[in-house]
Amino acid sequence: MLSNLQQQPADALLALIKLHNADPRADKIDLGVGVYRTGQGDTPVFAAIKAAERKLVEEQDSKAYLGPEGDMAFVEALMPYVFGKDTADMGGRIEGMQTPGGTGSLRVALAMAKRAGIERIIVGVPSWPNHAQICADLGLAVVEFNHATTGGRTDMEALGTALGRAGERDAILLHGCCHNPTGIDYSHAEWDEIAHLVAEAKVLPILDLAYQGLGNGMEEDAYGVRRVLVAVPEALVSYSCDKNFGLYRDRVGALYVMAAVPEDLPRMMSNGHMLARANWSQPPDHGAAAVREVLADEALTAQWLDELDQMRERMRQVRAKLAAAGTAGAVDLTPLGGQNGLFSIVPLSKDQVLEMREKHGIYMAGSGRINVAGLTMGNIDKFIAAVADVTG
Ligand code: PMP
Repeated sequence: MLSNLQQQPADALLALIKLHNADPRADKIDLGVGVYRTGQGDTPVFAAIKAAERKLVEEQDSKAYLGPEGDMAFVEALMPYVFGKDTADMGGRIEGMQTPGGTGSLRVALAMAKRAGIERIIVGVPSWPNHAQICADLGLAVVEFNHATTGGRTDMEALGTALGRAGERDAILLHGCCHNPTGIDYSHAEWDEIAHLVAEAKVLPILDLAYQGLGNGMEEDAYGVRRVLVAVPEALVSYSCDKNFGLYRDRVGALYVMAAVPEDLPRMMSNGHMLARANWSQPPDHGAAAVREVLADEALTAQWLDELDQMRERMRQVRAKLAAAGTAGAVDLTPLGGQNGLFSIVPLSKDQVLEMREKHGIYMAGSGRINVAGLTMGNIDKFIAAVADVTG
């Protein structure tokens, strides 16, 4: 029976990591894998998380099961950061549950939407490939619209057209900030318009917030999510702490459900809990417990926010340096200066991406996506020269 299984394509980025590891060149550059790196090329554990982990080792007195909803003190501690101090639960209309990363949250959000009767998910493309993959696995149809124009702006017209055609069984999946892979985010004015359009189209918004704090700051990066939530009766918010707390492999995330009235929440959350049980029973505890410790302690919270500021500042410096280079061969690097988060797309053909790798030892996704945190003041000139070389 199992021999009926068809070969599935390998994850392109994981294959790239293998190639990078096998490359003997000392000055090779990895711009593929999506983790933050310091100016020295490391992805360290946040000092605030280390301190929280030490506390956990000392103080945790049981590892007994918590339940499918996970660590609710963690889930609730995050809410003021996501939804705003004064509107942390929108008058009792928002409740959450812990999930294994943002991926686990999206899995439950999309499955919950399907159970509610949603049939199609409207997604701006390109998007994080797992969005389409999860939809396909759940039997949800994906309706695509162009996220950005060829000029590198968000394509509000395409978004408006997609929403204009939407029906009552449609949901729209939006990146809250730091769009992956383009780095092209909506402005505040555009979010205002989106909130209005989504409300008018009466589609269910599913907001994916995987990089809060990596764009323009914790508050600024939540603008779009908060703006949409005040405009609509119901929404799902998928949250990841894996980037902004540097917890990637510990798989820390949360799903928040906003209901039209508080009385609906227990019924909705019972579906989330059932889906958790059917998928992983209970989320892994450690990373979320560490986040809870950080958020429960003023000094650790300040330290975490400071570390996050440094990450963001470094990515801004890299972006500023790329933008200052102006054009590299046939590529205009200036737009990268105004983009947000870990990722941007450098418009290279598949052959040029290959040449970057083979001739220059620079590893990037086939789409031309780069992790800007893979660039340092020590290797950025080599990168710019290589772009000029392969496109010149
Ligand atoms: N959404 C987007 C847009 C992402 O880029 C990612 C991760 N790269 C996720 C969700 C999921 O993150 P996690 O690692 O927490 O599952």
